[in-house]
Amino acid sequence: MRTPWSAGRDRRYERLSRLAYQRVPYYREEWAAAGTVAPEAAPVPMAALASGHRFVPIGADTTAVLPSPVDLFETLSLSERYTPDDVLFDVQPGLRDVEFIGPKRTGRYRVLLAADADVDPTASVDPREATAAEYTRSARPVLLADPDQLAALRERGVPIGDRVLRRGDFDDLAELDVLWTVELGYLGARRISCGRVHIRPGVDVRLLGSTTVFTRLDRQNPTLLHIAPAVPVALSPCSHHAEPALTV
Ligand SMILES: [Zn+2]
Repeated sequence: MRTPWSAGRDRRYERLSRLAYQRVPYYREEWAAAGTVAPEAAPVPMAALASGHRFVPIGADTTAVLPSPVDLFETLSLSERYTPDDVLFDVQPGLRDVEFIGPKRTGRYRVLLAADADVDPTASVDPREATAAEYTRSARPVLLADPDQLAALRERGVPIGDRVLRRGDFDDLAELDVLWTVELGYLGARRISCGRVHIRPGVDVRLLGSTTVFTRLDRQNPTLLHIAPAVPVALSPCSHHAEPALTV
């Protein structure tokens, strides 16, 4: 089953597929080994991404690509529980040089330092407490945190507001609000209107045989085409949104 529910998304998929077969070592080798020119490659197990250099196009700069604020903004907007007027407090182990994640300086962004953040023990004010205080004072905070981070904040006595987006990997699909993996970055979010996890426009999801695979359309370095999660997930139509959504 292919699911090209957006023509623009499908064009980007075709372009990335061509790039992969022409210039990306991993896909070129798989293609040669299979002795075929079939554009529908086999699913790529997540574990294969450990050999990261094989997913970098030949001749491309190998500088690691940092997560983009755009990815996060697109994901949060999909959740229907976030607007660009909110202030996002992202629980992270380190501060980031990002002030806004939305277009035209919208979507204010702050880091709320996690319990395991590497802080200067001699500092007069613990930066973890300082960022927590900023969260507590904010008029329109939305908190983005992994379940463990959330538990640690509660343990530290940080008052948690009622607007919390739980971030999780495929393991947590039944519980999470925002789908994120170390390897693939921000992928999608649970929409309030149907309660199901949808994939953001910068990512393609489709079935290869019976395996659900993900492609980062908005990233070429590394090229992440047809990546299969370690935990299998199913794809089925969401009647409310007339496009596929993930199923546990
Ligand atoms: Zn839906």
